[in-house]
Amino acid sequence: MEKIKLGISTCLLGETVRYDGGHKLDRFLTDTLGQYVQYVPVCPEVECGLPVPRESMRLEGNPDFPRLITSRTKQDMTERMVRWAKRRVVEFEEEDLCGFIFKSDSPSSGMERVKVYNEKGMPVKKGIGMFARIFMEHFHLLPVEDEGRLHDPELRENFIERIFTLKRWREVLGKKENRGNIVDFHTKHKLLILSHSPKHYKMMGKLVAQAKDLPLKELYWQYQTLLMESLRLKTTPKKNANVLQHMMGYFKEQLSSDEKKELLEVIDHYRKEYIPLVVPMTLINHYVRKYDQPYLKQQVYLNPHPLELQLRNHV
Ligand code: SF4
Repeated sequence: MEKIKLGISTCLLGETVRYDGGHKLDRFLTDTLGQYVQYVPVCPEVECGLPVPRESMRLEGNPDFPRLITSRTKQDMTERMVRWAKRRVVEFEEEDLCGFIFKSDSPSSGMERVKVYNEKGMPVKKGIGMFARIFMEHFHLLPVEDEGRLHDPELRENFIERIFTLKRWREVLGKKENRGNIVDFHTKHKLLILSHSPKHYKMMGKLVAQAKDLPLKELYWQYQTLLMESLRLKTTPKKNANVLQHMMGYFKEQLSSDEKKELLEVIDHYRKEYIPLVVPMTLINHYVRKYDQPYLKQQVYLNPHPLELQLRNHV
């Protein structure tokens, strides 16, 4: 697989673009995830023409429609930032991004809970950075996270799973359009989708079954929308445990009653969060390989992202 293209707030890569001439290097993003992704760095404040160092800024006013104001001299940078951001997101359409990692808490780049100050100078953590808002409105189904949220193992696993899945989907889009490619993609991603949303699993199954009745463009569009919507819904131990039990059903002939009992126990311990997902997954993977189960062995759910990232060791 080619590297996954991700937008990122430039300061997270260690570039000294912050208002105080500093950076916010995040080693996980550069050294670990960086092995699999090609970053497209974006510093809205520098790219809209501001120098380094510069006066710091903050959001002020109505949290739903805040202004971007310099903290000391009170210059209003809103128009300048909005004009640049609206132009930049259109340019991004050519970049084939599979997601974006924003710098948390920034009045330009923060994706949620950014401080917005009222006229008395009191902050409420309800804002969205000016560039982040325009980006997310323009690419509303694209996976986005900030570096702070990515310290949470569940959010991290979910985000990385989504960007890898989107990359595989983009590879389908890169091929000649035909129904067979969608059926093939869907077949391999069925259990992954089920682990996020049983509702979308049903809807997408129905859509693929009716593929012949829909114009191709419409089919691709509907499938992509449902895929992105489904992956936004987080997996939970309960949903994963249901998928694992579903997989276990494929071995009812081969497993002894002791083996079944052991597998059920391991799944139950995972459901109760005594052990991480990697434990039942390893056992299931072992049976898939041992019995060469043809449907399961093609399931992306078994290996949705590189093992080296160890994402399932912590969820
Ligand atoms: S948070 Fe955003 S605007 Fe601020 S330095 Fe980082 S990339 Fe630039």
